[in-house]
Amino acid sequence: MDNENENTANENTKVYDADFDTTESVNVPEQLIDQVIGQDHAVEVVKKAAEQRRHVMMIGSPGTGKSLLAKAMAELLPKEELKDVLVYPNTEDPNNPKVREVPAGKGREIVQAHKMEARKRSQSRNMLMLLLIFGIVMYSFYVGQLLWGIIAAILLLVLTRQFMPKDDLMVPKLIVSNYEKEHAPYIDATGTHAGALLGDVRHDPFQSGGMETPAHDRVESGDIHKSHKGVLFIDEINTLNIETQQNMLTALQEKEYPITGQSERSSGALVKSDPVPCDFIMVAAGNLDAVENMHPALRSRLKGYGYELYMRDTMEDTPENRKDLVRFVAQEVKRDGHIPHFNKSAVDEIIRESRRRAGRKGHLTLKLRDLGGLIRVAGDIAKAEGSEYATEEHVISAKRMARSIEQQVADNYLEQKKQYQLFSKEGEQVGRVNGLAVMGGDSGVVLPIIAEVTPSLSNSEGSVIATGMLKDIAKEAVQNVSAVIKNITGKDIANRDIHIQFVGTYEGVEGDSASISVATAVISAIEQVPVNQTVAMTGSLSVRGDVLPVGGVTYKIEAAAQAGIQKIIIPKANEADVLIEDQYKDQVEIIPVSTITEVIEHSLVGNEKKNIVDKLKKVSNVKWNFDMPEV
Ligand code: ADP
Repeated sequence: MDNENENTANENTKVYDADFDTTESVNVPEQLIDQVIGQDHAVEVVKKAAEQRRHVMMIGSPGTGKSLLAKAMAELLPKEELKDVLVYPNTEDPNNPKVREVPAGKGREIVQAHKMEARKRSQSRNMLMLLLIFGIVMYSFYVGQLLWGIIAAILLLVLTRQFMPKDDLMVPKLIVSNYEKEHAPYIDATGTHAGALLGDVRHDPFQSGGMETPAHDRVESGDIHKSHKGVLFIDEINTLNIETQQNMLTALQEKEYPITGQSERSSGALVKSDPVPCDFIMVAAGNLDAVENMHPALRSRLKGYGYELYMRDTMEDTPENRKDLVRFVAQEVKRDGHIPHFNKSAVDEIIRESRRRAGRKGHLTLKLRDLGGLIRVAGDIAKAEGSEYATEEHVISAKRMARSIEQQVADNYLEQKKQYQLFSKEGEQVGRVNGLAVMGGDSGVVLPIIAEVTPSLSNSEGSVIATGMLKDIAKEAVQNVSAVIKNITGKDIANRDIHIQFVGTYEGVEGDSASISVATAVISAIEQVPVNQTVAMTGSLSVRGDVLPVGGVTYKIEAAAQAGIQKIIIPKANEADVLIEDQYKDQVEIIPVSTITEVIEHSLVGNEKKNIVDKLKKVSNVKWNFDMPEV
């Protein structure tokens, strides 16, 4: 790493002008909306949408605060408007229960009053029965027919049990209750099936003979009804089947939706209630796919009557934003309720990690769910050690423990590759380069690339054959590389095939970040000049031979360092994104480059290298002169 970069990294490590010793003294705002960090635009829109009762569609990476914002929105809605909903039996058509909406809290009172009345009525009836039976028994005793009297009394008892109306069956059912709710409901309906979402009528196994449950009592409200006057949040909206999305659309338009049995063969399917109010605000969330695969009419409804929001993945690394992150740590500790607060060094380490995870110069990550996970693990470690506060050491051990599945797979990968020597980290080889790739966004792997040039199979022209389960962008990258190679090697490769193999890529390769590695491997193979195996590289290549920036450099460098590689070539444009852990700093030399010529200079070995570099320089000089337009 050069000096300039070292300095920025050091400067960055000084985190903020802190006015706290531990997060205990950091104020956490009461309202959820004020707890949201780094999504200023989203916060503004949500406030406005809550005021105007508009729907919101949020698109963005997982864990950036979509459901938090939806919850915050519910808090902002007026609770005065909340209602309870009751279902009443319909004596004329038992399969069409009646629905009534009453102010919040009233529903419970009504049900209790009905129950009380039913109890009273049955008590007085029982009293009357008792008197009647007593009368019959006394009379039969008086006339000397006691046995017949007892038989008559029992008969009477059985008959009334069977045929008298059952008072408690007429009690209405409370299907939406907002009794003593502090704010408007927030219902998360992610991944629920149609019945839970739209309401259902339970099956009645008896159906007749005095054992049946009345239809209104089997009516169950759905999430759309429970979120009446509140917020209905659905993540991954596109995973709902089309029919359900269609029904959701009806519910949105009508603001009421009758409840019927969802399962066709159930006795519930016969029942259909009157329309039940469902005037909810819908917050639909997902990643970009969600927009594409959503029912177009539903999307258009949300768009026409609401806002669309794109959640940010990172925020700028400014003192205010760092202060917000300090507050985030305090918030998460408070929310967890079991872990100790963080001291300043621990918060520093969290902020440093947030920088690393941003993967972008001068930014902090906003994938805060994952960062929250790290905070909890660090807190657990501190607690297990009986420490009063979580410290830097706890956060560092948490990072080691809380490795994502992808990171663990990458570790395993590395182990296996080391064992079978799939990549080499010593010596030199023709046509073989240590490329670098990322898996799952946060773990690097060394990806060896081998090139071989053979006489062409076809007489007319040579072709480029790439193997290793390449996906579209990677394939295109290989094509671009061949353009560069044709341009710069100057050799006639028309009658030769170039084979490029990405070794051990069972999960496929995507992206163009291996293109400088491919170019180097191919140039080495064509020119028969060996590549230094102590070098690994990552970078995208333009058709003109410039090295362009790529993602995940920090993770890639760390993976290379772990694998024992000494020099790592990265795009110059990514230089400031490098935030590797201290432990790797002395192990590797980072070489930022901006052209393929520099890549070749740093990676090939032997006497022939100079020739190639000269040739490349000549080609690129011509190109520059040629490309510079006069302005
Ligand atoms: P999403 O719905 O986008 O997947 P969530 O809203 O469920 O993410 O986030 C999960 C948790 O992560 C939240 O409960 C909160 O603790 C934390 N979190 C995520 N984003 C933010 C944010 N922008 N501000 C504050 N906390 C956040």
